[in-house]
Amino acid sequence: MPGFELWGDEERKEVNEVLETGILMRYGFDSLRKGIWKSKELEAAICKRFGARYAQLTSSGTSALTTAFAALGIGAGDEVIMPSFTFVASFESVLSVGATPVLVDVDETLTMNPESVKKAISSKTKAIVPVHMCGSMADLDALLTITKEHNLILLEDACQSIGASYKGRAVGTIGHAGTFSFDFVKIMTCGEGGVVLTNDESVYIKCDGYTDHGHDHKGGADRGADQHPFIGYNYRISELHAAVGLAQVRKLDSFLDIQRRNHGYLKNILSNVPEITFRTIPDPDGDSCTFLSWFLPTEEITRNVVNELKGQGALAGNFYWYDNNWHYIRKWDHLKNYVSLHALNNDQQAALKKLQTQDFSASDAVMGRCVSTAISLLWSEEQIRERGEKIVGAIKKLLGEQSIPACVKLHLPT
Ligand SMILES: *Cc1c(COP(=O)(O)O)cnc(C)c1O
Repeated sequence: MPGFELWGDEERKEVNEVLETGILMRYGFDSLRKGIWKSKELEAAICKRFGARYAQLTSSGTSALTTAFAALGIGAGDEVIMPSFTFVASFESVLSVGATPVLVDVDETLTMNPESVKKAISSKTKAIVPVHMCGSMADLDALLTITKEHNLILLEDACQSIGASYKGRAVGTIGHAGTFSFDFVKIMTCGEGGVVLTNDESVYIKCDGYTDHGHDHKGGADRGADQHPFIGYNYRISELHAAVGLAQVRKLDSFLDIQRRNHGYLKNILSNVPEITFRTIPDPDGDSCTFLSWFLPTEEITRNVVNELKGQGALAGNFYWYDNNWHYIRKWDHLKNYVSLHALNNDQQAALKKLQTQDFSASDAVMGRCVSTAISLLWSEEQIRERGEKIVGAIKKLLGEQSIPACVKLHLPT
């Protein structure tokens, strides 16, 4: 998964160019910066690589989402439909603009189930935010049909799927806007950073101002001459972070090649186990292959296999999201109890209270059986085989011991 694994001279060279001038800010100081504009250069490189008309860098993926919501005009009173399996940044960014998160079930794509989305639409719904989790993608055709029919905004959270595509187009460029995260463990990293992608010039101009205290950037070299047509915040990226990203975006395709190769080896090994099924991928050719996500027949079997791997000291890199408190509704107690340091608005409080009793059994039935194995860029073939064989061994050992549902027994090797 992470680009930091292949940190090297390319990143050091870009950062050093910024250190030479000492101009760490992305705006202004025109005469002192000696023509070094890493943030602008990275934005241009991102537009080119992903086929987006506009890119606005931000300080994080979370602030990219917040910026996108603001630029798309989503705020107090608006409902935003998001999946039950994602990263906490999804609801954080919705809440931060005063909007109301509405959570829906995921299916075996590990992304939002379009049927659940349809059922969650109300007169207050303003946007649908599919999260392209774990390197793959949501069923965008189905979601686009829904957004068109109901006149809603589609914002793609592609923070975990940089370089994935859907029917030939980069994820993050297909909806009204999309976001990537460049935090330290993402497919490419800036250390910290993010970006909003859009093909809509007016959305881009709003993102540009919003991330820099509302500056319209029309004052030329004199920041003091900029006007403030609307209220903004400081979600700027620094030149040092952008410099890292510039080296990383140039290496992205080599990261993706390695991920796809390693993912293929591991999938071949796990395919020998008839009890394992794999995640449904709406466009398999577009998978970034940053994770291999697989299912076992029941939650009990899955939990036991996870515990077996843990006991062998072999769990690292295998994620059982069902018990994870960053990624799945089940453990988001702070959200369900709406523990906020500042007052939330009434709509937000009412919506979060509802989460305490909302039925997520359809999501549980998927997530309770799912393990995602993170694909390293550094694995040797030998290490992949070892890893795969540990997983296969743990499953074989447990399936031999416990009571297995009849449907599963049929598939057991004799
Ligand atoms: C990482 C991530 C984010 C937020 O990115 P940060 O840069 O860590 O703020 C948002 N959404 C998803 C799905 C993520 O994985």
